[in-house]
Amino acid sequence: MSLYDGIKDVAKVIQKADNIDLYRQLLDLGQQALDMQAEIARLREDNARLLKEHDLEAKIIRHSAPYITLSEDPLEIQYCAACWSTTKKLIQMDEYTYYSVPKLKCSVCKCNFYKKNT
Ligand SMILES: [Zn+2]
Repeated sequence: MSLYDGIKDVAKVIQKADNIDLYRQLLDLGQQALDMQAEIARLREDNARLLKEHDLEAKIIRHSAPYITLSEDPLEIQYCAACWSTTKKLIQMDEYTYYSVPKLKCSVCKCNFYKKNT
């Protein structure tokens, strides 16, 4: 039986007893219980997101230039270190050359810099 169904069943019993104050209290308590259920669902989502971020954080390799790579990534994809620090999102950097010198640019935060071999 769900919480909502349980509250409805108790409400029916209280309605038959014709006790308005008790019925109102039950409605208030029911609303509080539903609010707490919603809060628990939100907290579970936050917890799952934080665990995922924590797992990723353990795989991050930082470099002297402001990009990051992930351990165990055979492609060594370069992600924006600034975006990771501020939003915890992995944004792949664009690699291009400027006067034959390799540079990296983030398409989100627009930071760009010369790529160093680090
Ligand atoms: Zn960025």
